[in-house]
Amino acid sequence: MEERPIVLFIGGHDPSGGAGIQADIETAQALGCRATSLITCLTTQDSTNVRALHIQPVEDLLGQLDCLLSDMRPQAIKIGLLGSAEVIPPLAERLATLAVSLVLDPVLAAGGGQRLADERLVAAIRRHLLPLTTLLTPNRAEARRLAMTAEPDTAARELLGLGAGAVLLTGADEARGDQVINRLFQEAGEQDFNWPLLPHTYHGSGCTLAAACACGLARGGDLAPVVEQAQAWTWQTLAHAEHPGDGQWLPRRLPETEK
Ligand code: PLP
Repeated sequence: MEERPIVLFIGGHDPSGGAGIQADIETAQALGCRATSLITCLTTQDSTNVRALHIQPVEDLLGQLDCLLSDMRPQAIKIGLLGSAEVIPPLAERLATLAVSLVLDPVLAAGGGQRLADERLVAAIRRHLLPLTTLLTPNRAEARRLAMTAEPDTAARELLGLGAGAVLLTGADEARGDQVINRLFQEAGEQDFNWPLLPHTYHGSGCTLAAACACGLARGGDLAPVVEQAQAWTWQTLAHAEHPGDGQWLPRRLPETEK
């Protein structure tokens, strides 16, 4: 059998299983990739909101990364919740030597409203990670905060100017009418993707989409079709979402297996 491409996921753990590393691993499993993972922080959270972050010491995280990379080479990397600014410069230094596709999901706040990044973390992402990023996947609020610009399209273009190879600006956080418009910005131009707005609010949709993009890039696809297929697949996981708690709905990423 052919070996599956390896994707390295760097992000936080969400005990509800909707977002974070569990979303990443399930996505890789569903999309024919092998997941490797580094946990930047544990969180205290449920399907309504994040209540606390428990950040892993920087030297421990870097030790785990060095150990893993001395053994395995990922074909793509996805970064989600980082938790602290300190880890970013040494992490970026290591990632710069790898020359693989990097998908950066700039998790700055939870869907429930809890802030997950301070201004130092935002500044460190701008300075150290954007120049290494193949695809950045902010929602509108994240694009504004990262670019320090009020208008989301202008913000996305500024983020390209800061070194991101492409920006997929997602629109579900500020959808109007019955459509979600996600816009892909590249040097060559822009492309819109329209999706029917689904009836609930979802926890982990952004993680799932960014992870699906990383899997598509690991499998060797071109950026625009990878981004389109990742959105179509993520939309299906939301259309089949479940409501196991009292808060947001959680994507259903894995099919039933035969019992
Ligand atoms: N917790 C973790 C560990 C995450 O990675 C994320 C998003 O990536 C969140 C919480 C927030 O998820 P959401 O914005 O879907 O509520």
